[in-house]
Amino acid sequence: MIPVRGMEGAIVAVLGLGRSGLAALRALKAGGASPVVWDDGNRAAELAAGEGVELQDFTKPGAFDGVARLIVSPGIPHLYPAPHAAIAAAWEAGVPVDNDVGLFFRSLAAPDWDLFDRAPRVVAITGSNGKSTTSALLHHVLEEAGHESQLAGNIGRGVLDIDPPGEGGVVVLELSSYQTDLARALTPDIAVFTNLTPDHLDRHGGMGGYYAAKKRLLVEGGPDRAVVGVDEIEGQALANVLSEGPADDRVIRVSVTRKLAGPGWQVVARKGFLAESRKGRQAASIDLRDIPGLPGSHNHQNACAAYAAARALGLGPKEIEKGLRSFKGLPHRSQLIAERNGVRFVNDSKATNVDSAAKALAAFDRVRWICGGLEKDGGLEGLLGAAGSVRKAYVIGREAAGFALQLKGLEAEVCTDMARAVARAAEEAKPGDTVLLAPAAASFDQYDSFEARGEDFIRAVERLGSA
Ligand code: ADP
Repeated sequence: MIPVRGMEGAIVAVLGLGRSGLAALRALKAGGASPVVWDDGNRAAELAAGEGVELQDFTKPGAFDGVARLIVSPGIPHLYPAPHAAIAAAWEAGVPVDNDVGLFFRSLAAPDWDLFDRAPRVVAITGSNGKSTTSALLHHVLEEAGHESQLAGNIGRGVLDIDPPGEGGVVVLELSSYQTDLARALTPDIAVFTNLTPDHLDRHGGMGGYYAAKKRLLVEGGPDRAVVGVDEIEGQALANVLSEGPADDRVIRVSVTRKLAGPGWQVVARKGFLAESRKGRQAASIDLRDIPGLPGSHNHQNACAAYAAARALGLGPKEIEKGLRSFKGLPHRSQLIAERNGVRFVNDSKATNVDSAAKALAAFDRVRWICGGLEKDGGLEGLLGAAGSVRKAYVIGREAAGFALQLKGLEAEVCTDMARAVARAAEEAKPGDTVLLAPAAASFDQYDSFEARGEDFIRAVERLGSA
C-alpha cells in the first residue's frame, strides 16, 4: 500500500466504497488521516463497519464542515449528466474534490528514494481503446526482461494498493477518462495516449469534454516522454501541442495507418510489421503477424504503444520483441476459446463500443458476428464500413430487434439470448469461419459486466462441445 502523504490528522471524505474507494480509505488511514465515508449502495453500512469507519450522508447540511478533501470513485458522475449530490455539496462548501489517482501521485515518492541510484518510474496509459491490453503488455514485457513492474489503476490493483516500488521499479497504470478528469495531480514519467473514438460521451458532455479529460494526463504533469497515437485528429493535435518542433523526441508518435516521415521518434505498424525510426533512421523492425496474443491491426497499435513506452524506459528492441512474442492476451479481448470442425470461437466481450467492435471484425475473415446489448450514444453507422468480413449477424440483448434493424445491408437474425446466438452461429458456420462475440454495446441490459457476458459466451461454446 502507498500511505497517503500530506493529509495527517485531516478529515477526508471518501465517496464510493468500491475497489478504489476501499483502497483509498485504507491508504488514508495508513497515512494518518481520518476518513469518513458514504456510498449509496445497500452494502455501505456493512463495508464501513468492516473498515471501522463512520458512514456519513455527505448530502446532509454541514456534512463537509471541517473536511479537507472529497475523494470520489470513478463510477460516480462528477459533472455530466449531472454531478452526484455529494459532489455538488462539496463544491458548495468549497472542499477540493480529488480521486485516488490524485492522492497516488502526491504520495508515491518516498524519502528513501534518495538512496536509490535509479528512482522508480510511472507509466500512465489512457485512450479510448486498448488501454488494458497495452498496460498488460508493457507490464509483461518489463517482467520478461527482468524488471520490477506493478500493474494498477483500471486494471489489476487500485493505485493506492500497490507495494512501494523498489530501486528502478516501474508502475504501469491504466487510467480511464473518469480518472484523468478528476485527479488533482497527474505526474507520470511517461504518458501514453493510445487513440480516441467516441465513448462515455454522456459522462463528458460530448466529444470535446471526453478529449479534454484524456488530454489532462499528457499536459498537466509534463511527462518526460509522451507516446501518442496519431491516427485521429485529436492525437495529431496533442502530439503537436507537446512538441517544440519536428525533431523533438519527447513525443513518440505511433501509427498503424500510415508511414510517418520526419526526424522525430516514431513507431509504426503497417502490414503487420512494426518499425521504429528516430532521427530519420530505422532503429528496429519486428514481424507481428504470427504473434497469437496480438491479432489484428488494433493489437498492432497496442504493440507499438507498449514498445514505444518500453523504449522510453530504456529497454532494447530485442528484449521487447521477446516479451511481445510471449504475450498471451487478456480474457475477453480477441480471446480464442475453441476451435471445432475448423470454426474458431473468439470472445471479445470487451468490445463495448462501435470502434472496438469494428477493430475486432477487421481482425478476422468470414465472421459469424454475435452483437447487441445496451446501445451507446452515436449510433451504429461506424460499424458498417468494417462489416465486410461479416457473413451474418446474430443479435442479442433486450432490444435485439431494434439493434438488428440498424445493421443495414447485413443479414441479421434476432436471437436475444446468448445460448441461442451461439447455437445458431455454430449451426450455420462453415470451416474457416470465426464465430466472434464483439457486441458493440454495453452489457448491462442482460449482465452485470462485460466479463459476465464473456463467461456466458464461453459456457455456451462449451455446451456445444458436449452436445
Ligand atoms: P480498454 O482498456 O481501453 O477498454 P482493452 O485493451 O480492454 O481496452 O480493449 C477493449 C476492446 O477494444 C476490446 O474489444 C479490444 O479487442 C478492442 N481493442 C483493443 N485494442 C484496441 C485498439 N488499439 N483500437 C481499437 N480497439 C481496440
